[in-house]
Amino acid sequence: MSEAPQATVLAGPTSVGKSTLSKHIRIHYPQVHFSVSATTRPSRPGEVDGEDYHFIDRERFDQLIAEDAFLEWATVHGIHRYGTLQSTVEQAVAEGKRVLLEIDLQGARQVRDRLPGAQFVFLAPPSFDDLVSRLIGRGTEDEGERQRRLRTARIELAAEPEFDVTIVNDDIDRAARELISLMGLDPETYA
Ligand code: 5GP
Repeated sequence: MSEAPQATVLAGPTSVGKSTLSKHIRIHYPQVHFSVSATTRPSRPGEVDGEDYHFIDRERFDQLIAEDAFLEWATVHGIHRYGTLQSTVEQAVAEGKRVLLEIDLQGARQVRDRLPGAQFVFLAPPSFDDLVSRLIGRGTEDEGERQRRLRTARIELAAEPEFDVTIVNDDIDRAARELISLMGLDPETYA
């Protein structure tokens, strides 16, 4: 058994490609146990309740906060709430699984205090310009919105030193392999 931590938190700036990387890992590395978050956001076509997220309403989310059931939770993009259930992570760790938490930066900061022994991985873009073009690539936003997104990108990139390791998302396959290795799993075991 390798010495890698059982829980890995993956965070990074908006639009860096976290969810694409997660999807890739779900498909190719079934040995990774994903922490399924609860969210108040409505499901998108194709998403499965209990697999992608636990889709719950605001009242239920409030109730879970009151019960102190969350390891962390945050309002993301100022709209919907997302949270990691403490019981989900504890159970997976108790079963000896390698757990991956794909959460936003606010959530990662909370987990740092509450999940000792976890490793924190920052997913970074190859360059600032690359992130900017992903953020405003379609060019459909007005100048105010573009400026707001650029500010957010700078603030989020500045969080990198808070993390244990940085993975540059230059190539999805390579980035996934690096993450799998950091989790103490074999990147050659590829489905
Ligand atoms: P989406 O709605 O596109 O699935 O996710 C939006 C954002 O919410 C992503 O940045 C994702 O990392 C973040 N997110 C997903 N689950 C959680 C969670 O349990 N806690 C926190 N803090 N953020 C989450």
